[in-house]
Amino acid sequence: MSVFHYDVAIIGGGIHGAGVAQAAAAKGYSVLVLEQTAIASGTSSRSSKLIHGGLRYLETAQFALVRESLREREWLLRMASGLVKRIPFYIPIYKSSKRGPLTLSLGLSLYALLGGLGEYVRFKIIPQLEWSKLDGIDPLNLSAVYQYWDAQTDDQALTQAVMRSARDLGATLCLPAEFEQAQRMSDGFRLSYVHEGRQKHCNATTLVNAAGPWLTQVLKRITPPVLKIETALVQGTHIIVDGKMERGIYYLEASADQRPVFVIPWKGRTMVGTTETAYTGDPSKVHPTEAEMAYLLETLAYYFPKYRTLKRSQIESAFAGLRVLPGGTDTFGARTRETVLEVDDPEQPRLVTIYGGKLTTYRGTAEKVMNRLAGSLPTREAKANPLKIKLRP
Ligand SMILES: Cc1cc2nc3c(=O)[nH]c(=O)nc-3n(C[C@H](O)[C@H](O)[C@H](O)COP(=O)(O)OP(=O)(O)OC[C@H]3O[C@@H](n4cnc5c(N)ncnc54)[C@H](O)[C@@H]3O)c2cc1C
Repeated sequence: MSVFHYDVAIIGGGIHGAGVAQAAAAKGYSVLVLEQTAIASGTSSRSSKLIHGGLRYLETAQFALVRESLREREWLLRMASGLVKRIPFYIPIYKSSKRGPLTLSLGLSLYALLGGLGEYVRFKIIPQLEWSKLDGIDPLNLSAVYQYWDAQTDDQALTQAVMRSARDLGATLCLPAEFEQAQRMSDGFRLSYVHEGRQKHCNATTLVNAAGPWLTQVLKRITPPVLKIETALVQGTHIIVDGKMERGIYYLEASADQRPVFVIPWKGRTMVGTTETAYTGDPSKVHPTEAEMAYLLETLAYYFPKYRTLKRSQIESAFAGLRVLPGGTDTFGARTRETVLEVDDPEQPRLVTIYGGKLTTYRGTAEKVMNRLAGSLPTREAKANPLKIKLRP
């Protein structure tokens, strides 16, 4: 029985799987994507939906990540203008805030510098007379409000648009299709997966593990076994409540522990997130906990008095997503948010596992994955340059 052969097989239809599928198909390779549930059904629909440099990563000196993210943000604003919009961010500084005006001014100046000093990279201080127009933020003990620019997207719609572009370039999407096993041969992999209840097989020269929080389960299904990767799963929860933030996104310190929390306008409602809770269970079962929802409600009410009567029962919806961070003993906040690419063989990789990283940097990540696999792939005629492909909603 003859089986299909692909240059690149990808496990996972989140933003990373979609990005690699687009990059590989643009290079003229034959591509298969296996997604067990639906496009963006994992972390890629449960993020904070920000396309940003990550101001807070300056505190942990992740300058390269911030610079790359800011560059990608500008590219997305140009090439996915129907999906990514610039939006003002506000940071209020209270007498009790952990980060004072000097730290903020320094951080935002560096952010502007890394962003390339364009029209929208400048930050400003909102005059006190205008504080009353900031969606009812508590003025008591407020000493300054900073405003800068970043961008917002619909993460699920963005992922779907990238996957659509990959398919337009010829990539095959199999969905729902659960990857079951891969056996490494001298010239690639023999794969088995279950599609619409039937077991199927194919061969692939290279394999990309873009299974996000499921990546270790996927690695366990590859024979002979590849190196074990030490990771930690961290749960981030958002809640959605009634009422709309008119001015933009508020970047706050959580009242309980000073962690960053965003208050975000979202489809006519207000979204508040996120938390950072260790998670060890089945990634498919992740859900918001009562403690996380109480933490987010408390922070919202602390800064916005109009929400002080809001009860748990008035949370309209909530969702939780999982970040994959490197294992270790540092606090979660101190661990790198860079994308990590692990390969089976540093000399000639055929298997790349992606973890960590950001929605914002998916295109750059996909390019790096393809560069790692280039030596194992045949020469093909390129069809397009992903940098020049517009993404439409
Ligand atoms: C709470 C939170 C907030 C975030 N906020 C932001 C933000 O504002 N901005 C930003 O840039 N980044 C943000 N991120 C990071 C970003 O969301 C992630 O880096 C990104 O979505 C990860 O995408 P992924 O494709 O690697 O994983 P996923 O989106 O989880 O995709 C993995 C896919 O693999 C599939 N899969 C797994 N196993 C199998 C199998 N055996 N067979 C077939 N398919 C399989 C799953 O069904 C899933 O669809 C946030 C992350 C979290 C957790």
